[in-house]
Formats: sequence, C-alpha cells, structure tokens
Amino acid sequence: MLSMTQPNVIAGRKIMAKSASSMRTYLTCPRKYALSRDWEQKHEPTAFTRGTLVHFGIIEGFMKNLSLSAALGGVSIELEKMSESIENVSGFEDKELRKVRAYIKGYYAHNNQEDFFREFEVMATESAFEFSYRNQRFSGRIDALLRRKATGEVILYELKTTSSNVSDPDHPYWSRLNMDTQLAIYNQYVKSSVGRHPRVMYEVIMTSQARPKKNETPKQYEERLTEEYRESPGKYKRMEFELLQSKHEAKMGELVYLGQAIDHDLLLPRNDSACFSNYGTCQFFTVCSWGSNPDESLYLKKKEKKEEEINEFPF
Ligand code: SF4
Repeated sequence: MLSMTQPNVIAGRKIMAKSASSMRTYLTCPRKYALSRDWEQKHEPTAFTRGTLVHFGIIEGFMKNLSLSAALGGVSIELEKMSESIENVSGFEDKELRKVRAYIKGYYAHNNQEDFFREFEVMATESAFEFSYRNQRFSGRIDALLRRKATGEVILYELKTTSSNVSDPDHPYWSRLNMDTQLAIYNQYVKSSVGRHPRVMYEVIMTSQARPKKNETPKQYEERLTEEYRESPGKYKRMEFELLQSKHEAKMGELVYLGQAIDHDLLLPRNDSACFSNYGTCQFFTVCSWGSNPDESLYLKKKEKKEEEINEFPF
C-alpha cells in the first residue's frame, strides 16, 4: 500500500492523477473540470446515492460472502454514515432505499453464493489505485478483482445500474464498452499489475421506474419490487469478455493525448452548450454566467482533500 503520490506541477498548476470521471468532465466542459477540482455539489443526486448503496450491498456484501441480512444491514449503516458526513443525502427518499433493497435481494436470489465462491476467488474489492502509463498518471477504484479457480484467469468485475433495457447483447450499450474510458483505465491497470489483459465481467442491474401505489405501505412497495426482481433474471445482465488489444491500445493512446491536453490547457474554456443537461443545470452556472466566485453557497462546498490508501500493482 502507498499513500497518495505527490502531484507534478506544470506552469504553477498541480497536475493530479486523472480518473475516468474527471476526463469525461473535461470533455464535457474544461471549465467544469477545473472548478470540480476544488468544489463539489452539496446535494448528491439521488441516482449517485442509490448507485453507491447498491454497490455497497453487492460488492461489500455478496462479494465478501456476507448473508443477505448482513448485506442489507450494512446498506442501512452506510446510508446513516453518508447522512452524517454529507448533507447531500437528505433528499434521498425512503422509496429509493426500498428500491436498493429490492435490487440486492434479487441479486442474492439469482446468484448462488456457494456456487460463486466455488468458482471464484475474490482477490480485491473497492480497490483504489494509481499508476503511470506513458508519463500520465491515472487513478480509479475497481469494484472487484476475481480469479477463476479452474483456470487462474484474472477477471475485472464492474457493477453498473441503468434505467435502459440492455438485456440484448447486441444493444449498443455493450459495443460502446470498446471505447469506455473507465474500462480502458481499469483494464490497463490490471494488465500492468498481472502482465496480461484481464477478462472483464460486466454486470448491469436494470433499475425500476415503478412508484409506490396509492395506499401501498413502504414495506408493501419493497415486497412488490423484490418479487419483480426475484422473478425476472432478465433484470440482471452479466456479460464476460476480453477487450481487443488493438482497440484497448488505441483508447489508451487517446487518453494519454487527452491527459497532455488537460495538463497544458491554461485557458480551460467554458462550453456553454453543456450548462443544461438531463441532470439539470450545472452547479457552476452562477459562477460562469454572473462571474461570481464559487463560495459556500446553497449548492457548493469546498472539497476535502482526502488522503486515501492506494494500491500500485499489488497483485
Ligand atoms: S456552467 Fe456551463 S460553462 Fe460553466 S462550468 Fe458549467 S457547463 Fe461549463
């Protein structure tokens, strides 16, 4: 284990390791990327909190061989902890927690833990990392790293949720993964660690749009959703594949180029076409449109610089 590496400095600016999400933010709007280094939203979007809790139940529960009730108990504790440390979860409604519990219960019902642990060894979960590739530093956090006992193959496991129906293997969702920024960085990290491309196991939970019915109690709502997810294995789509080496190298080449562009971009221009999106208005809109300084406003708070344990090629 290492502590977070010291950033390089170019033209007086600190050059931090780049994560997939920070690179995507830069491509969306360079100014947003720059502001996001020091400021974050006070109110985390519901989808983010929901995704974090689903991950907690499955990666920290199922993958660690915990019983279903222990995993669900862990989710409640995690939500409490999040509520204490960030005011953002205040808008997370009980019905959202009921959905999370239903997805986790369905996952346990469709995946026999005994079979899973007979076939796989879990090498790591929620593993934060940094590594260098062609003079660029990349960072991330792998959901889980598995080893198939029969063959010794290393498998990079990623869990996602989506509101789309991606059960058809020909859905563009799956072909897009050939150019997925996060997957390329994670794949390169594991390849550098173990000396060869890992296989990828990508598992997607298709989320529900169902709302509580009139006069339905939260418990009944959860039971109805749980039934739906237990009865429909198609709500969980798992695909296992290996990224094509040529496609992977091409993507990493693009990311190195993008990293260099970010490092040397002093202007960090505003992209006014990105101010409004399906997720709402950008949190920095008043900063950009009115020229005000970002401050501890209703929406923003200063980012805490966390010293985090990271792994550099531990496998
Ligand atoms: S408000 Fe618009 S221009 Fe400003 S950071 Fe956000 S997306 Fe970029």
